[in-house]
Amino acid sequence: MTAPLRPNNLEAFWMPFTANRQFKQAPRLLVGAKGMYYTDADGREILDGTAGLWCVNAGHAREKIVEAVSSQVAELDYAPAFQMGHPKAFELASRLANMMPSPLDHVFFTNSGSESVDTALKIALAYHRARGKGTKFRLLGRERGYHGVGFGGISVGGISGNRKTFGTLLTGVDHIRHTHDLARNAFSRGEPEYGAEFADDLEKVIALHDASNIAALIVEPVAGSTGVLIPPKGYLKRLREICDKHDILLIFDEVITGFGRLGTPFAVDHFDVIPDMVCTAKGITSGVIPMGAVFASKKIYDAFMDAPENTIELFHGYTYSAHPVACAAALATLDVYAEEGLLTRAAELASYWEDALHGMKGLPHVIDIRNLGLVGAIELEPIAGAPTKRAFSAFLKAFERNLMIRTTGDIIALSPPLIIEKAEIDRIFETLAGVLRDID
Ligand code: PMP
Repeated sequence: MTAPLRPNNLEAFWMPFTANRQFKQAPRLLVGAKGMYYTDADGREILDGTAGLWCVNAGHAREKIVEAVSSQVAELDYAPAFQMGHPKAFELASRLANMMPSPLDHVFFTNSGSESVDTALKIALAYHRARGKGTKFRLLGRERGYHGVGFGGISVGGISGNRKTFGTLLTGVDHIRHTHDLARNAFSRGEPEYGAEFADDLEKVIALHDASNIAALIVEPVAGSTGVLIPPKGYLKRLREICDKHDILLIFDEVITGFGRLGTPFAVDHFDVIPDMVCTAKGITSGVIPMGAVFASKKIYDAFMDAPENTIELFHGYTYSAHPVACAAALATLDVYAEEGLLTRAAELASYWEDALHGMKGLPHVIDIRNLGLVGAIELEPIAGAPTKRAFSAFLKAFERNLMIRTTGDIIALSPPLIIEKAEIDRIFETLAGVLRDID
């Protein structure tokens, strides 16, 4: 029996990050997806301008992935990864490690971006302790950082709404500034010129607490969920240098930037900066099955492997770590990426995308536009006294006009599947131009 297209009762599902009462008066129901398009309950085809939630990088319902998932369910539906394993977990870890520059040689599997972040933070703390440096316990994040919704992630994250109602969070956390600088960098194309010196905030925090107390700094190479904030030229390199100087681990949260979003397999490649750990999720399975992975450098892995033999080196893991179905989905996804050159396709389309996006300059309400690879943002002037309202009405109107966009605050964020064609890029911006002209 198939589910009805329109459920009779919307009450029971407590929807995440959603204004439930508002939504339930006028629900948007997605019932199908293929390639670049969703289908809604009215049968409308909706162009996916956001790859779902920044995850469907290979496009929807790709046959090879569908087939891999269904045959894996029939062959080995579930297997624990504690004290045993299945071949695809090892195969996937090796393939992933080979995609990353050395020494990011080891892979720990999770089920989401939030879990990847909390895993990386825990590994950072345990790593220092394993080396007899247990005083290094402080964790650093940034303002406007989004690192998922676990207690670790919201603690190092810098979004007040995600933190303020949840008690004391982790102690021993500090935030350095974000790098978004409208006054100097508005309408920059690619990486902004100004602001590498924001990295020196890290030295200030180190001076305050002493490096002997600091474990790790986590940053999104490009902050996604808080509005596509592109790092200024030289900024990430500078962070790397300061972390090296003070024996502080640098963690990149590549949950959005991983798997081709910037035109290289990872942001690590684009920025030519190698952190000590990389958090991923989303694009690892093109969104088909929940999965995440933390890449850890050889020095981190080796520090744990120096423990006495026959001991569990890290007391951490999930029932579904390296789930066979997720591994099968990921392996098939990596095949699709490789066969179609999708991990570098954003680089091929980047200048077309950039020109089309920056063509929105001068339209009503637009105060900034920014982009890198196949990601982009249009920042709107907020309505006085009603922040977020203007962008949200753009979201509603775009949806009415068969285009899915995402908004955060008064920023429109775009990140289409990497299979997008130029004609669809044109369609996104033609629709958006109309939307911007028609909203208040
Ligand atoms: N980190 C970053 C940078 C993200 O963008 C996200 C999700 N948007 C997360 C972590 C959390 O991922 P998840 O929702 O899969 O837990």
